[in-house]
Amino acid sequence: MVVASADVVITGAGPAGSAAAHYLSRYGINTILLEKSEFPRDKTCGDGLTPRAVSELIRMGFPIPEAEGWVRNYGIRAYGGGHTIEVPWPELASQPNYGSALPRKELDEKLARFAQKSGADLREGCTVTAPIQDKTGRITGVKVIPTADKKAPEVEIKAKFVLDASGVSARLAVATGREKNMRRPMGVAVRTYFASPLASTDMMESYLELWAGAAGKSELLPGYGWAFAVGNGLVNVGLGSLSSTARPTGINYRKVFNTWMQNVPPEWGFTAENQRGSLQSAALPMAFNRKPHYGDGLLLLGDAGGMVSPFNGEGIAYALASGRLAAEFIAQALGRNSLAAQDRVLQQYEAELRAELGGYYTLGRIFAALIERPEIMHLCVKYGLPRPVLMKLVMKLLSDNYDRRGGDWMDKVITALTKAVPKA
Ligand SMILES: Cc1cc2nc3c(=O)[nH]c(=O)nc-3n(C[C@H](O)[C@H](O)[C@H](O)COP(=O)(O)OP(=O)(O)OC[C@H]3O[C@@H](n4cnc5c(N)ncnc54)[C@H](O)[C@@H]3O)c2cc1C
Repeated sequence: MVVASADVVITGAGPAGSAAAHYLSRYGINTILLEKSEFPRDKTCGDGLTPRAVSELIRMGFPIPEAEGWVRNYGIRAYGGGHTIEVPWPELASQPNYGSALPRKELDEKLARFAQKSGADLREGCTVTAPIQDKTGRITGVKVIPTADKKAPEVEIKAKFVLDASGVSARLAVATGREKNMRRPMGVAVRTYFASPLASTDMMESYLELWAGAAGKSELLPGYGWAFAVGNGLVNVGLGSLSSTARPTGINYRKVFNTWMQNVPPEWGFTAENQRGSLQSAALPMAFNRKPHYGDGLLLLGDAGGMVSPFNGEGIAYALASGRLAAEFIAQALGRNSLAAQDRVLQQYEAELRAELGGYYTLGRIFAALIERPEIMHLCVKYGLPRPVLMKLVMKLLSDNYDRRGGDWMDKVITALTKAVPKA
């Protein structure tokens, strides 16, 4: 039974879906945003917003004023090989010189409400079960059930374009045969929260080596750790590992996390009494591991399109950017009067993503293949970290924190490298 129709229907109100819904509504395009949960809902994440993510929020007109409790961070503090270095976010034309962080439980609700205020028809508690396809295979809508009543009959929502922004589950992409590319990198990470004195830090803390005991004198654990101040006296603490393919790593991340926790400095206060919430884990689909990003009326956004950076596990900025681009190309497509002409416009969504990120993600794949070998990572940390100019360049590369047009010599080196490699 068809219960509603719209120009666009979006599956998932994470950052990708909400950004798309906001921009589409601003273009005056009738948009239904379906979310299986009810807000506020949790999402396993490090909650870190790099300057690239903040620049996307600024573009959306989504306010993050310090006066309303939004924390700011001004760079990365990295620890490894007995060294500690601080690399401030640089002054760029394309990004602000600060980042932020907010628990996703709050951020995602704010973004969804923002999209709603822009005019999107947000429907919470609606689980999308399958795409609707016509005889040619074109996706013309979605089937939905109430999350609270899985036995209820499915209803149909029809649309001219359907967006899969359902995160790592990629519900519609999978249902239409867009399999993940096993040869692209994949991350897995765990995180929890602590009330901690580190909550007052204004840098993103990054631990490049995790030790099972005394640093340098015990077993080196797999993975890299972080502690991000998220406001209200809390830090988001987690660790993740990166693999150059989607094969399971066999690592017991909870065990590694607990071992790491037993060996962190006591003054950080990462104790059971200070822990807020349980340890949760999730996967990070990287480097465009699921394609095509457009085909047969279906666009893949954010994690559903494998848009997490293999360099640092960041996905919010790219989820927001994909929402922005998807909306822009749909607005153009709706101005054309044949399906063939609309499809031609939407091929540009895919082309634009590749132009913006394809070379960068190929470099990320090379990076992933190198650092999954602990001996190479150890050498990089030991000899690289004490070299400030090198580290500035590396941090720009790792956090996608460079101007793609113009910029300083480092930005130009990174841009040249991204152009020298095939696009992911
Ligand atoms: C442990 C961990 C730490 C991370 N740390 C960071 C970090 O610090 N900074 C950063 O930038 N990125 C980080 N990431 C990556 C980041 O979380 C993701 O890249 C980001 O959430 C992608 O946004 P999205 O909108 O594509 O998907 P999601 O945020 O996953 O949103 C998808 C939405 O779709 C909904 N949904 C799913 N299926 C359906 C369905 N069938 N019907 C209806 N709704 C559905 C879900 O409920 C959800 O609301 C981390 C990831 C992990 C796992």
